[in-house]
Amino acid sequence: MTDLVKDFRSAELLNELRERLRGMKFKKEIKIMEVCGTHTMQIHRFGIHQMLPEGVKLISGPGCPVCVTPNEYIDFAVELARAGYTVATFGDMIRVPGSYSSLEKVRAEGGDVRVVYSPMDSYELAKESGKPVVFLAIGFETTAPSIAATILRAEAEGVKNFYVLPGGKLVPPALRALSADPQLRISGYLLPGHVSVILGRKDYLFLKDLGIPGVISGFEPADILQSIILLLGLIKEGKAEVVNNYPRAVREKGNPKAKGMMWEVFREGDSKWRGLDLIPKSGLFLRRKYMGRDGFKVFDISPPEVRENPACRCGDVLKGLINPPECPLFRRVCTPENPIGPCMVSSEGSCSAWYKFG
Ligand code: SF4
Repeated sequence: MTDLVKDFRSAELLNELRERLRGMKFKKEIKIMEVCGTHTMQIHRFGIHQMLPEGVKLISGPGCPVCVTPNEYIDFAVELARAGYTVATFGDMIRVPGSYSSLEKVRAEGGDVRVVYSPMDSYELAKESGKPVVFLAIGFETTAPSIAATILRAEAEGVKNFYVLPGGKLVPPALRALSADPQLRISGYLLPGHVSVILGRKDYLFLKDLGIPGVISGFEPADILQSIILLLGLIKEGKAEVVNNYPRAVREKGNPKAKGMMWEVFREGDSKWRGLDLIPKSGLFLRRKYMGRDGFKVFDISPPEVRENPACRCGDVLKGLINPPECPLFRRVCTPENPIGPCMVSSEGSCSAWYKFG
């Protein structure tokens, strides 16, 4: 395995892995869920979903942070911008439609919506402008430590006008919820690389008790092919093991310093995910000490009643119940230029991956 990882970009290795995968045989249907939006993109970019042996299906999971953020969160951010506050966010988020509008539309109407590349950029904006700046704190364990670091810096420097809208999500509770869903019957997980850098292999060991194997994978085509082969091997042998197939980046206990910073600022709580509804202990909320920076608590905003677009099947896509082309709007009405749901907006969204790469 180590030799293969060293040579992960060689064409010879890719061919070898492809042949090994093609040669595998299964008597029953196998469903593998890839839990990371970047994996979804890579799988479609390199046509890996078309290299699978008969009976093996890859389904996309809720691994795109923008996609799983529910409408009520977007509606609150839209109303904040309408009320004249500066809203700072990562790029994908501004085009996501909420119940009635999007941040992009509010910006076109004159709202102060800024695209930033890091939470620290939004903090610098707050320092420079002296006005209230609200950062949309969405994302998984990957982004939470840098958001926490920014809040700690604001505290240390006594900058009072920097706020966040807590919307972070935790991957392991979502895996528990998906594993318990009788509609899905997942055979194994291709586990996310970036999130695992923070979490480490140890944080997935609960999968053993659920009887479902998982393999942590990198993002090169060879990483993904090899991880799928390993996972199929575990499924075939009935072994519910958790394998770290991304040892060049992921450690057994992850990154304890980043985790420590995250838990210093955030606490876990029940959280609503688009498509998966309320998942116990799956959200990141500010601890009492930092409550004065929570935009939900500080600003008196009353968004209109939440509305879902009944035609958009994004929720079913995120849960792995359908593939994007099964949505009647896919490609006909919903395109990256005219996205109806978040799964078509985000660069990590499944609908966007299927649209771009087929
Ligand atoms: S294709 Fe568009 S409308 Fe259909 S599920 Fe995806 S984002 Fe929603």
